[in-house]
Amino acid sequence: MNHFPPSAVYMDHRLNLILRLKEDVFVLVLSSSPKCRALPPKKVPRSTPKLRPGDFILIPPLAPHQVWNRGTRTMKIAWNRTTAETLEMAINKALPNSRIVCRNEQYKNKAIVYYTLQKYSSLLKSTRAQVEMGGDNAESIQRSIKVRQVQKDFKKLFDLYKSILLSEMFAPDSREHPELLPYDNNVTCTYCRCNIFNRFLSCKSCKNLFSSEIEEPYDVCMECYCMGRSCGCQSGHTWVEQWKWKDLIHKYDDWRAQIIDIDGHMTDKTPLPLQEERRYRGTKVPWKEDSSSGVPRAAAVEAFCGCQESTTREQS
Ligand SMILES: [Zn+2]
Ligand SMILES: [Zn+2]
Ligand SMILES: [Zn+2]
Repeated sequence: MNHFPPSAVYMDHRLNLILRLKEDVFVLVLSSSPKCRALPPKKVPRSTPKLRPGDFILIPPLAPHQVWNRGTRTMKIAWNRTTAETLEMAINKALPNSRIVCRNEQYKNKAIVYYTLQKYSSLLKSTRAQVEMGGDNAESIQRSIKVRQVQKDFKKLFDLYKSILLSEMFAPDSREHPELLPYDNNVTCTYCRCNIFNRFLSCKSCKNLFSSEIEEPYDVCMECYCMGRSCGCQSGHTWVEQWKWKDLIHKYDDWRAQIIDIDGHMTDKTPLPLQEERRYRGTKVPWKEDSSSGVPRAAAVEAFCGCQESTTREQS
């Protein structure tokens, strides 16, 4: 007798069941879990597959889902994949949504973008060196699907890196000198619980707000601040950054040159130098200094916040 029937359910973006490898394994009922009830009232089919030992469920990116452990001794084992595509979705869609409901960011997505670019950059550099040496391998390396895939992902990740930098840029005439707190993977927005990759506002007078025993600064991410979220005193925050801005720009220029090198020439898709990208985005400049107080304030919030909801808000 087979105790572990192999089976899989694949759900598409609208949570439609499109593939069932084995019949009669899943019990499908409308989900009544709080998280699923909180979904927007679109006509989204919802289902609750009941897993039995050996079942395997593929959940596509952006599909809201919840796992319930039923009974007394059950556990779930999950395997999460991160790809250039899922990072795009995370940064453009999932994280703005999580921010609204203040859901903990588990994967430090912006840091993954940065460190993967760093890794891919050196991989592609050594590949290029090998090709330049010539020999039998040169041509097969150049035509290798793996190399092409890395090049493709490198460009995709670079676009994400570009938007991360653009979202953190100060106005060119800004005289801000953020305090440097070297990156340690460990700064979380006190408000929305996202992982902060670089710049944020920290309030010394509001620290240890939740408990005097736990040392916790009050840090707010730029996106939250831009939405009007702030600490209690609303005035004590100062800028902190975890990377030297010129180092991040240096990486930007370096990686951009590498993309031009991969393509062999500039195309209409070639990213521009960062200052030009900023100008190109026109009004989407998030930060301006309030000249009276020196306190940064959000300008052009609509263009910046990324949630795409407020951009369609009606003007009265
Ligand atoms: Zn935040
Ligand atoms: Zn404060
Ligand atoms: Zn918004």
